Amino acid sequence: MSVAIPDAVPPPVVAAGDAGSGTFAYCSQQYRVVFGAGTSARLGEEAERLGIKRALVLTTPEQQDLGRRLGRGLGDRLAGLFAGARMHTPVEVTNEALGIVESRDIDGLVAIGGGSTVGLGKALSLRTGLPHIAVPTTYAGSEMTPILGETSNGIKTTQHSQDLVPDAVIYDVDLTVSLPPHISAASGMNAIAHAVEALYAPDANPLTSLMAEEGIAALARALPRIMTAPADPGARRDALYGAWLCGVCLGAVGMSLHHKLCHVLGGMFNLPHAETHAIVLPHAAAYNAAAAPEAMARVARAVHSANAPQGLFDLARQLALPRRLSDIGMPEDGIARAAEMAVRNPYANPRPVERARIEQLIAAAWRGDAPMPH
Ligand code: NAD
Repeated sequence: MSVAIPDAVPPPVVAAGDAGSGTFAYCSQQYRVVFGAGTSARLGEEAERLGIKRALVLTTPEQQDLGRRLGRGLGDRLAGLFAGARMHTPVEVTNEALGIVESRDIDGLVAIGGGSTVGLGKALSLRTGLPHIAVPTTYAGSEMTPILGETSNGIKTTQHSQDLVPDAVIYDVDLTVSLPPHISAASGMNAIAHAVEALYAPDANPLTSLMAEEGIAALARALPRIMTAPADPGARRDALYGAWLCGVCLGAVGMSLHHKLCHVLGGMFNLPHAETHAIVLPHAAAYNAAAAPEAMARVARAVHSANAPQGLFDLARQLALPRRLSDIGMPEDGIARAAEMAVRNPYANPRPVERARIEQLIAAAWRGDAPMPH
């Protein structure tokens, strides 16, 4: 499916950068999080706390067995399973699930899976007002954001609402062990990208910056261990903890050049989302490095490198992630077109977004060069 670039939410017009003046606004979000190994056994308790008597469990087709197994923990509160969640929250899938919600008198939603399934839970809770429990099994972080991207006829639109935040999130480390190492690595780098941009966001503040640095550090130490020992409980715990913090950052502050580039590249060439983030991130960080020195110092510290962009590049290499946009299907003649698109309606960014420099950045990512300030 080709997905158009989401521009429904207008980008902020203020400049991003290091929080120099020391003045900030911090808005805390209300989240209930249950974290640990084996915590999905507490699903019934959480449903009871929310007064759910007839729950619909949501999964992808691949995770329906997991949905059935965890659904048993709901006892007689389980009213059905809908195993049709798909990437990019297609509206026709949401409508199909909505039919089940209405015909079975459902009074609560339990999304078990990655960002695709949590997206379906959000879309349904927004339409129905029903309580939503999310049980994430990847590092995408959607459960921590008031954001929903939906697709209809190949067009993606994005909306923000506090009503999208799940009423409870159960992070069960045990459920992430089955996530294959290469998907864990890509998903984890995608999470790191949210935190890197949160550090130089226009609305960055000391609290989100603390979470961002801690989230990057936890993922940077966990992901290499997951590559060699996918079931290592300590590494899985660190990675999920880091993903949680990075997800909070994504939901709390505005994103910049890196996210704009990934939206453009993914939308134009149908590139895999997480891998695109992993390839572009060191280059976007290099572009912004001189304009956001405090943010870069934090990233460098978190990835244990003297240089933040190089440290991110080295981490992606250590995780055996693709290094070149050419490796994941981007055509060379798309570089100039993508640069043109990326400078249209740019997101707030610490450094001005210049067409020629952006084209150099994309070309470097296409070739798989080491990150250089363009
Ligand atoms: P996903 O939810 O599409 O899952 C990918 C595949 O992995 C699916 O087949 C799934 O069943 C399987 N899977 C998930 N967890 C597994 C596990 N532990 N073990 C084995 N297999 C597992 O992928 P994702 O990267 O989590 O989510 C991507 C989607 O989330 C995109 O649509 C993206 O736009 C959205 N997203 C939204 C936000 C937001 O804030 N709204 C944030 C991040 C991502």
